[in-house]
Amino acid sequence: MRYKNNNYFFENISLDKLAIKYSTPLYCYSYNKLKSNIVNFFTYFKKFSPLVCFAIKSNTNLNLIREIKNFGLGADVVSKGELMLALKAGINKKKIVFSGVGKTESELKFAIEKKILLINSESESEIKIIEKIAKKKNVVVNIGIRLNPNTDANTLKQISTGKKENKFGVDEKTFLKLVSVLRTSKNIKLKCLSVHIGSQITDHKPYEKMLKAVDKIINKAKFNFEYIDLGGGMGISYEKNQKKLDYKKYKSAIEKFLRKNNSKLIFEPGRSIIGNTAILISRVIYLKETSKKIFVILDAGMNDMMRPALYGAKHQILPAFKNKKKSQKSYEFVGPICETTDKFLSVSNFNKLKERDLIFISDVGAYGSSLSSNYNIRPKPSEILINKSKITILKKRQKLEDII
Ligand SMILES: *Cc1c(COP(=O)(O)O)cnc(C)c1O
Repeated sequence: MRYKNNNYFFENISLDKLAIKYSTPLYCYSYNKLKSNIVNFFTYFKKFSPLVCFAIKSNTNLNLIREIKNFGLGADVVSKGELMLALKAGINKKKIVFSGVGKTESELKFAIEKKILLINSESESEIKIIEKIAKKKNVVVNIGIRLNPNTDANTLKQISTGKKENKFGVDEKTFLKLVSVLRTSKNIKLKCLSVHIGSQITDHKPYEKMLKAVDKIINKAKFNFEYIDLGGGMGISYEKNQKKLDYKKYKSAIEKFLRKNNSKLIFEPGRSIIGNTAILISRVIYLKETSKKIFVILDAGMNDMMRPALYGAKHQILPAFKNKKKSQKSYEFVGPICETTDKFLSVSNFNKLKERDLIFISDVGAYGSSLSSNYNIRPKPSEILINKSKITILKKRQKLEDII
């Protein structure tokens, strides 16, 4: 992904070609970026031979998940729908873990029938329901318990999950109680301790704290867990000069932890696998000048890419074609949706734009298309995958007739 003669190329294809052929807004994924992210992830943690379960909620495109499966990944799912999707993509059921605070009885039944690797349970009540179903079916169900380690992930508060005021997991006291109760359960086999403290984590220290909390509770529980599921959350660089997660330090904290605890590791990365593999190409519909700034009104809106509106997240915006002129006034990139939060970014000194020009929003692979909606009755965009000069359609743009 780079400029060639001021024209931006995504792998070997220029954005204007893609926009003309597939129209805009358009999600574009890079196969080779995906491949290198996965290879890097496995390289960082090679020493542990972990099971890597891709967090499906970060990207729910079936064809893309097929590609991810081909690299040997499993899946972390959070609903029956995601479980069905993972199975349809061909992911081995013994590489699937099911997380979530509110799995319904019918969702649990489905997961039990499919004999997935683990149901990571997040409450006492849920474990009772699992036990009830297992008893009725006369089977043994493998579960994990998600611990809330009361660890601050130092990330956006909207995507922090590991503090005691967050709804996720169970506290230390409940955890210990459940471990002791489950020792004698006939229909539930406790196999895993899981944690996931949040998303877009760029500081290794929260992970160190999390591992300390896990180590402490294992000592107290005096239980040998076959698996420790460390969740996901590894952050990526959305902005220039943004701090990067130090994988070496995270890895050495894990090494230290494993010296005392002999368990298999599971990771559930979403963003770090798929986040920086995609851009959203959009066309400028109108420029609207006011006394202080110019609104750049795009054909992509918060229904197509919600992170800025939902979390105040920042994604870089760049022009598809660079010229030598700069805009005098600052640009505010907004969508066409009837909401004030339908705003992507404010930028000063941006490349001077005119109406019909193309821009792209960066790093939209994770929680981009999966969070998209039909708000304002807008069809969800097409999604394509590019491998050098080869284009594969991952998903066609929705048709208005189908939505209506
Ligand atoms: C969302 C989620 C993940 C993935 O988080 P990323 O920040 O995308 O890596 C992993 N595990 C659980 C339980 C989750 O809810």
